[in-house]
Amino acid sequence: LSLLIGLTGGIGSGKSTVADQFAKLGASYVDADMVAREVVAPGTSCLAAIEAKFGSVILQQDGQLDRAALRQLIFQDLSAKQWLESLLHPAIRQQMLQQLRNSQTPYTLLVAPLLLENGLDKLVQRVLVIDVSEETQLLRAIKRDQNSAEQIKAIMAAQFSRQQRLALADDVIDNNGTTNELLQQVAHLHEKYLELSGKIRHKEQ
Ligand code: ATP
Repeated sequence: LSLLIGLTGGIGSGKSTVADQFAKLGASYVDADMVAREVVAPGTSCLAAIEAKFGSVILQQDGQLDRAALRQLIFQDLSAKQWLESLLHPAIRQQMLQQLRNSQTPYTLLVAPLLLENGLDKLVQRVLVIDVSEETQLLRAIKRDQNSAEQIKAIMAAQFSRQQRLALADDVIDNNGTTNELLQQVAHLHEKYLELSGKIRHKEQ
């Protein structure tokens, strides 16, 4: 049984960078965004249910879910939106839990932008928050995605604030500095999590 750490932070805060670095050090991670795509991949029961409800207009030529078309359909239809959420949320949760349970590394990260907003922190033993100023967050997200400041700001507004996240954090990474400063903090936490996972194992035996 792996020690489970929830890793979260706002858009452009550095979640992917940090998760990749933990992975280089030998940890594994489950990515909530990836799981959300896996549960609606061609051949899944979720995609079949969505097609049965909305018709094949929500499919692309290649059989993949047409996310933009689905978004259009539920945009102003609250009951359709609720139907979709009650289908997807349990499926995503179950799939995440299965992947977390299958993990063989001493500790495992659950990487999720909306970890706290969606209550996924209940699935993990510790919460690691990546903290960054709104200015830096905006600059990095714009530079990476070529999105407008308005688009990024709208996403930021739908996520928890820095203060809300920090209030729920067990561990915090400060990513206002250089990449090197970031990697040093990850290395330090890696040692800490290895030690904590050892204690948990000890208790179980
Ligand atoms: P999202 O939630 O949007 O997927 P994220 O939290 O996964 O974002 P990353 O993609 O890891 O964030 O980082 C956002 C951008 O900022 C990337 O281009 C990354 O290379 C860059 N970045 C991360 N940390 C630093 C740093 N300390 N200095 C400079 N650039 C950084």
